[in-house]
Amino acid sequence: MTEKKNYHADKNGMYGRFGGAYIPEMLYPNIENLKSVYKDIIQSDAFQKQYKSLLKDYVGRPSPLYFATRLSEKYGTNIYLKREDLNHTGAHKINNTVGQILIAKHMGKKRIIAETGAGQHGVATATACALMGMQCVVYMGEVDIQRQAPNVARMKMLGAEVIAATSGSRTLKDATNEALRDWICNPEDTFYLIGSVVGPHPYPDMVACLQAVISEEIKQQIKEKTDKDYPDYVIACVGGGSNAAGSFYHFLDDERVKLVAVEASGMGVDSGETAATIALGDLGIIHGSLTYLMQSDDGQITEPYSISAGLDYPGIGPQHAHLFDTNRAQFLSATDQEALDAALQLTQLEGIIPALESAHALAALDKMNFDKNESVVITLSGRGDKDMATYMDRFGF
Ligand SMILES: *Cc1c(COP(=O)(O)O)cnc(C)c1O
Repeated sequence: MTEKKNYHADKNGMYGRFGGAYIPEMLYPNIENLKSVYKDIIQSDAFQKQYKSLLKDYVGRPSPLYFATRLSEKYGTNIYLKREDLNHTGAHKINNTVGQILIAKHMGKKRIIAETGAGQHGVATATACALMGMQCVVYMGEVDIQRQAPNVARMKMLGAEVIAATSGSRTLKDATNEALRDWICNPEDTFYLIGSVVGPHPYPDMVACLQAVISEEIKQQIKEKTDKDYPDYVIACVGGGSNAAGSFYHFLDDERVKLVAVEASGMGVDSGETAATIALGDLGIIHGSLTYLMQSDDGQITEPYSISAGLDYPGIGPQHAHLFDTNRAQFLSATDQEALDAALQLTQLEGIIPALESAHALAALDKMNFDKNESVVITLSGRGDKDMATYMDRFGF
């Protein structure tokens, strides 16, 4: 008899051998406090009522599951796009920020802190803070602030304070250090809002629970559109892994559903300019969690590279590391060029300009074989407006 596999976090936040909470002792009280309340809050009627109502009327859910006719014809199968790009602010990140700020409110917190790399999580956080009247402080590397001026302006317009991290390489990792320092100094009134299924337990589980609405809806919608109540494939891109975790959540225990995660390989897996963590990573600790990450022989975290800012992360959430180890999910990678080609193809076949991140998931279509009766769900994590400068540059429009 085979033992039933568990793909969720155990009580210590372990997914198989991955996860946990590897944090400085000064953070124990904050993490312990959050760990002791987050599940009860999420499961409470009061939270569910507020969260569902905001997802519906503010975010605009349920997001459609769209049957892509011309794309399906091209690949000889049935392709459905889960339209997270149609959410308010144009991506899936808002599902998580609205949820965590509600949790923060239930905990009596007054102040939200976050770190951001490209600024997309910062904008989603500042948006939800404006909505709920919460003070918002976003840490961002000085270099990233210069590279991402429009998102910095959005955050400021939304009322957030953007603080430059000026140490080290002045990018995401340094912003994370500043945010953690802030949290240690302000444990009483401050909530630290993480943007993906990364970080110490309970963040990976909490964020996955908040993004699980994606697969909850897919399950319902695929039943309405096909003669089966499950899709044969669910495909999503992975940076930290939150849109993928949400897309997989309700299918993890249904082995009929093949799960496919697509990482960014940048200029190529072996080019040195890549973010393909599963393809290249070894076991290590990043952001308080034991998982795969890209590191040099002496254990230094390698600077990642991808054309898409949201996938440009040297680690991967611990649940995904476990899904890879147990073979529950298949991991593919797509290069910058493959993602660009897939973005252009979707735009011209369906009239939908995808985010560059989501284009990596679409690029998987050329790497797989499908049967004509199968149904393939691809999560379109975001819209491409933010990537127009890159598209103009690369396509010469
Ligand atoms: C941030 C982002 C991603 C990557 O984050 P995950 O946590 O891996 O989902 C993917 N797509 C879009 C549009 C994003 O903004």
